[in-house]
Amino acid sequence: MASPPPRGLSITFFVLSLFTFLINSANSLRTSVIKLPESDGSRSAAADTYCESWRLAAETNNAGTWDVIPSMCIDSVSEYVNGDQYGSDYGVIADYALAFAKTVQISGDGNDVWIFDIDETLLTNIDYYRAHGYGSEPFESSSFNEWAVQGTAPAFDASLRLYNALKKLGFTIILLTGRDEDQRSVTETNLRDAGYSGWERLLLRGPGDQGKSATNYKSEQRSKLIEKGFRIHGNTGDQWSDLLGFAVADRSFKVPNPMYYIP
Ligand SMILES: [Mg+2]
Repeated sequence: MASPPPRGLSITFFVLSLFTFLINSANSLRTSVIKLPESDGSRSAAADTYCESWRLAAETNNAGTWDVIPSMCIDSVSEYVNGDQYGSDYGVIADYALAFAKTVQISGDGNDVWIFDIDETLLTNIDYYRAHGYGSEPFESSSFNEWAVQGTAPAFDASLRLYNALKKLGFTIILLTGRDEDQRSVTETNLRDAGYSGWERLLLRGPGDQGKSATNYKSEQRSKLIEKGFRIHGNTGDQWSDLLGFAVADRSFKVPNPMYYIP
């Protein structure tokens, strides 16, 4: 015949059971309390998560060609370009570009080149895009040109810092932009007003370049520079079409642009 458990063991068992019950109750209470606000905010949190992923896919060119930003990402893109992260990203890229530039042997013949794109690379058009849905509206060249000819686009601080540091190292600076030749004067004035000076050449789209993709137009321009004896060590741009194609630089540095894509 089985003997009853000793009295001390029964009390221990009872206390342990009570303890387990209390912990389980507290856990289920905590879960239900946490779940309530989650169900309220989950849509926006999911959109934020998606938009961060979309931005990464766009920056890395995994998204390929795209026309406008997803409408659910307007707030996310706005927050990014109006917040500290945007400028910080330019700063980190400028640091890496400068670290590479310091490894380049400058010959002193004036042919060691760094190429910069202009829009969203040296100058920020954030005021224009702020008024046009941060890239959620289809691009309209007429309204953008109206903005561009005002010539009031400011510099990115980090790009100006990099630009001046490269000049000091002895690089020849060449500016290669998709802007048309008829904007040469206003572009030069805007660049000077923003703090840039001392570029060797400013290359804009001429009549013969109309209709070419940015990738082809910029590759052809780089190719001509190489034919003239320039050595393109570095290239900084906000579009993959600034950097890819042929006659590419030894190192290309992609600054962010979550607002538009130029193939
Ligand atoms: Mg650009």
